[in-house]
Amino acid sequence: MENLIAIENLKKYFPIYGGVLKRKVAEVKAVDDVHLNIMRGECFGVVGESGCGKTTLGKTIIRLLNPNAGHIFYRVPKEIVEAIKYLERNDPKSKALKYLLKEYDIAYLTGRRLKKFRRYMQIVFQDPSTSLDPRMLVKDIVAEPLVSQGLAKGANVGKRVVEVLELVGLSRSHLYRYPHEFSGGQRQRIAVARAIITNPEFIVLDEPTSSVDVSVRAQLLNLFKELQKKLGLTYMFISHDLSVVECISDRVAVMYLGKIVELAETYDLYKNPLHPYAKALFASIPVPDPTRRREKAPLYGEVPSPVNPPAGCRFHPRCALAMDICKRDEPPLVDVGGGHLVACYAVTEKE
Ligand code: SF4
Repeated sequence: MENLIAIENLKKYFPIYGGVLKRKVAEVKAVDDVHLNIMRGECFGVVGESGCGKTTLGKTIIRLLNPNAGHIFYRVPKEIVEAIKYLERNDPKSKALKYLLKEYDIAYLTGRRLKKFRRYMQIVFQDPSTSLDPRMLVKDIVAEPLVSQGLAKGANVGKRVVEVLELVGLSRSHLYRYPHEFSGGQRQRIAVARAIITNPEFIVLDEPTSSVDVSVRAQLLNLFKELQKKLGLTYMFISHDLSVVECISDRVAVMYLGKIVELAETYDLYKNPLHPYAKALFASIPVPDPTRRREKAPLYGEVPSPVNPPAGCRFHPRCALAMDICKRDEPPLVDVGGGHLVACYAVTEKE
């Protein structure tokens, strides 16, 4: 599969201001040095506890948030990415590097170019009752990205709105209604219609099914799969619901305190999680059989603050396998075979 998005050393910190002069006193390290590749046409799942940085990662990739550091390459040939890395190592002040970053790195886009780029990457938020303007008619809500991008005018706007409403299971009869007249599932369909109207290639689905009940959740998941096939979409599916992620994702990354600690194909990860945190997380999935109990993985204490994360491996204060090196050095993400990446000394030293 072709690489659609490559993320290198991505960081997103939120400043905390304090004191009489309201100076910056600390930073919340929501996303800290994340590397990953997303393939064209895949659904890339991201799981982790609340506050681990999943949503911030998704929003930063599509530039709803500005990264503090790192690169976001979208449809950039591998040779160019390699050239950028080479220049960063050997000639970080060169004009060639500045030119390449300006030309190819989404993290450097500003103004009109950033606005133009937005048509290719969209997002569907968790709660459609807050992401849809209650004072706007459905026809205007859905048409908004199309009009603001200047992609259609006059009668063509209406035609395209009806086309996407039908794609998401709604119809022309819904055009002149307000969001409050719909059920939660239908509202989420309106949000999806708005996201696909500009013909994007990549969509971040940020907990898109967590505000609806189980039967609607299944319908929405089917809709996402159908649209992915029909329109050739690539997804980043963010959720804390491990079963939902399992059912839709091709590969899944586990995040802990702003970092990816494990990444693998869905089947491999769910069958055999290797990182102690991932093991504890997956052990929490309920087993639909009252006679069977899932083996519990030990997990101590609370999640540390992302303002002042522990040195070395961020999971070491809670890890039963922690060694001296874990408190000192940060474990790198290592491929332990078949694209299964793990950041844990206890796993990678054994391999
Ligand atoms: Fe535990 Fe060390 Fe692995 Fe971190 S690197 S998960 S502390 S064994």
